[in-house]
Amino acid sequence: MAFEGLSSRLQNVFGKLKGKGKVTEDDVNEAMREVRLALLEADVNFKVVKEFVSKVKEKAVGQELAKSFTPGMAVIDIVNKELTELMGGTQSKLAKANKPPTVIMMAGLQGAGKTTTSGKLAKLLQKQNHKPLLVAADIYRPAAIKQLQVLGEQIKVPVFALGDKANPVDIAKQALEHAKEEHLDYVIIDTAGRLHIDEALMDELRQVHAAVNPDEVLLVVDSMTGQDAVNVAESFHQQLSLTGVVLTKLDGDTRGGAALSVKAVTGCPIKFAAMGEKIDSLEPFHPERMASRILGMGDMLSLIEKAQSSIDSEKAAELERKMRRAEFTFEDFLEQMEQVRKMGPLDQILDMLPGMGKVKGMKDLKVDEKQMGRVEAIIRSMTREEKQRPEILNASRRKRIAAGSGTSIQDVNKLIKQFEDMRKMMKQFSSMMGGAKKKGKMP
Ligand code: GDP
Repeated sequence: MAFEGLSSRLQNVFGKLKGKGKVTEDDVNEAMREVRLALLEADVNFKVVKEFVSKVKEKAVGQELAKSFTPGMAVIDIVNKELTELMGGTQSKLAKANKPPTVIMMAGLQGAGKTTTSGKLAKLLQKQNHKPLLVAADIYRPAAIKQLQVLGEQIKVPVFALGDKANPVDIAKQALEHAKEEHLDYVIIDTAGRLHIDEALMDELRQVHAAVNPDEVLLVVDSMTGQDAVNVAESFHQQLSLTGVVLTKLDGDTRGGAALSVKAVTGCPIKFAAMGEKIDSLEPFHPERMASRILGMGDMLSLIEKAQSSIDSEKAAELERKMRRAEFTFEDFLEQMEQVRKMGPLDQILDMLPGMGKVKGMKDLKVDEKQMGRVEAIIRSMTREEKQRPEILNASRRKRIAAGSGTSIQDVNKLIKQFEDMRKMMKQFSSMMGGAKKKGKMP
């Protein structure tokens, strides 16, 4: 995961401060020296690091610390606020045109994830009940047009293309007309990218810009490229007046330097972060949430939002009823697993829980996706009746299920035992809840 190294180093530094009843200026200086090294190692721009550390120091040795009962925590709080500020302070939302369609021009170097991100953004807008149009204006990269068309088909968003012989300026202009005619409210233009910044590319982008006057010019940068990403952003910004940055590949083991420097260096806010290859892995960027994630304080808000958008509330209510009546079956178990899966890769979900950064650092506690797969295979090998009435699972049935799922009888036994324990617990829990309710202790 992104920021893993930085996160664990910072948590170490602050772990030492946390319990202290009194924090001296020397303690702060020592902690800040370590913070400085941790940030530099995470590939944060050195000027940004210098300024950051001096701001935190100034606040920490000033009044704020003296007034606090828990000075160690107060230092962490200052760092949290400054990290948030560094990444832009508050969430920077997508602009909206007074009169639709809102035009979004996507720019970036080849391979940064521009085409994929265009598709993801369309999907995100579609989820918010908008009607986006994707525009294939990258006529140079072989297969870029086709790639966008495939993405569009997958998410059922129209794609405007005129082939690779047309001029990108004409494509963009005609696409805009098309969107107006079809009453589409967002136009996302996937422009050409090169391996390096060159004059011809910038010229073309400026022409497209002048022709459609976009409400947003978003630069897509690969966060894995660290400081390079920041340099690219600076050059593009000088030439194109960017309105925002999209950081991609934050699911990789990027050290985080790009995310922490790009706003401070270019002045452009980070508007979105992409955390995977899947079409729904684009999220609005929240500086405050990212800061608390880095500091191991968790990101409960994002977790709750993820759950709300991917878990079907009717199904959840039905499940709750079943749990109360202890009617929970293997079928429900499987369904619940699928719902959790929809929220994304498990280790990304765990990363949002407070304190999980540290736990995950312990190798033996890594999330075992394979184990989840085995559980799923076992349940899928059961007949309908077996799923609903696990008590009929005798030895020969267990043997058949193990063979069918490619697991061992021990695996099957273990799962059934866990399931029975869980059912028992639910029963106890629901009678406790019922009892409390009768006594008027529960809402
Ligand atoms: P473009 O040349 O900028 O249009 O780049 P593409 O959209 O074709 O993406 C280049 C590669 O990066 C593809 O293999 C994408 O699947 C991959 N990619 C894009 N965004 C992400 C991301 O957030 N995470 C990961 N892991 N891969 C990504």
